[in-house]
Amino acid sequence: MNAAASITPVSTLTCPECGHRQRETMPTDYCQYYYDCPGCGAVLKAKPGDCCVFCSYGDVPCPPVQCGGGTC
Ligand SMILES: [Zn+2]
Repeated sequence: MNAAASITPVSTLTCPECGHRQRETMPTDYCQYYYDCPGCGAVLKAKPGDCCVFCSYGDVPCPPVQCGGGTC
C-alpha cells in the first residue's frame, strides 16, 4: 500500500483577477507560493495563513495539507 495513493495531485486554480480556471499538477516536494495566471498574467500569491497558491485558489488543497500538515 502506498500512502500517496490517496493524494490528489491535480488542482484547479481559479484566478481571483479574471476568473480563469487552470488545472495544474501540484508539486509534492515543496509549496508553490506564487503562480502566474495564464489568463491575465496576474501573479497570484498565497493568502496569509495559506501555505501555497493551491490552498488559496485551488479546489484541492496541496499534498502536504491533504496529508494532515505533516510528512507523507
Ligand atoms: Zn487571471
